Amino acid sequence: MSEPFPQVGDLVAVERLDVQALFTALQQRGFRVLGPTVRDGAVVYDELTSPTDLPIGWTDEQEGGVYRLTRRADEGMFCYASGPHSWKQFLHPAVLRLWRARRENGSTQFEAMEEPPRQAFIGVRSCDLHAIAIQDRIFTGGPYVDPFYRSRRERAFIVAVVCTQPGGTCFCVSMETGPRPTFGFDLALTEVLEPGRHYFVARVGTEQGAAVLGDVPHRPARQEEVEADERVVAAAAERMGRTMETAGIKELLYANLEHPRWDQVAQRCLTCGNCTMVCPTCFCFNVEEITDLTGTVVERVRRMDVCFTTEFTYTAGRSLRESARARYRQWLTHKVGTWIDQFGSSGCVGCGRCITWCPVGIDITEEVAAIRATSGEKEGRL
Ligand code: SF4
Ligand code: SF4
Repeated sequence: MSEPFPQVGDLVAVERLDVQALFTALQQRGFRVLGPTVRDGAVVYDELTSPTDLPIGWTDEQEGGVYRLTRRADEGMFCYASGPHSWKQFLHPAVLRLWRARRENGSTQFEAMEEPPRQAFIGVRSCDLHAIAIQDRIFTGGPYVDPFYRSRRERAFIVAVVCTQPGGTCFCVSMETGPRPTFGFDLALTEVLEPGRHYFVARVGTEQGAAVLGDVPHRPARQEEVEADERVVAAAAERMGRTMETAGIKELLYANLEHPRWDQVAQRCLTCGNCTMVCPTCFCFNVEEITDLTGTVVERVRRMDVCFTTEFTYTAGRSLRESARARYRQWLTHKVGTWIDQFGSSGCVGCGRCITWCPVGIDITEEVAAIRATSGEKEGRL
């Protein structure tokens, strides 16, 4: 007898060898399958052709300014923490042509824009689901909707995974963004590695997810498999590398704009912008118009921009934030303070990327804790 067709909310078991069927089901529906793979000594997101492209048997060690891949004793597929990439590169690309036009015989012809591809993201962590939800609000939640973001977002299929191996710099529990995916996915997988068995407990999040899972061998999860799923999530929540106290954080930062800690962190900060580039929620961009040498072709291009450059606030002949102190303070107070006023939530999901990929190991949790511990100290200058 064949298994009943899965329904939204169902919990089913999928054997490790049947992950190939998931890839096939997505590829047959025309999705470009994107997910984690090992490249250049890190787990990055790229196009995958089969499960063999996944980081099988790899994990990572992360600390402030430190990232290192190491081998596992098993064949875990998703047993690593977030790497330097986030999903924003596929939804809000760092470089995006908005339009291109050519002058011909005295008239201007605009080139037709290609539709973005249908993309399936495999291995989206709960923190990154929250980051995508934040960018959804920014780009589509107000009266001015970004059509470029929306078209990519509407075509995306999301396979979330429970984070089984939080990194040394993770703090999603503090930010209430993980480790279990609770929304925003078509399917969510919990990877279970037991002696002699490697399988997944899959949750169905949408009708589309149910249809895809219908093409993958599965059966209703048994009680011991449901319990294994719970155990994995509870163990991950216990292994956060960092914590951040968020109570009153906005008010804390507003009250400490002249705290001497900003000078101390500025002595270390290289203003390289790595923290903004790896952050899954940072979204700033600039728009440029470029002509070719003959002056007959012009295009408008959107490029990622970061608040750590002096050009970012260059206005009327000078930068408004000339010092590293001013730029770091702007980034941190926006991320976890003014973001709340602007968009209704923190801009930080606790993924830890900005800590790991900061070349000097500046740690957002440490900076907030230091200001909290000595709140009210003032250096007495603007
Ligand atoms: S601020 Fe840092 S920890 Fe928070 S979401 Fe951005 S990269 Fe992740
Ligand atoms: S905090 Fe670190 S990553 Fe961010 S700009 Fe400063 S040195 Fe670069």
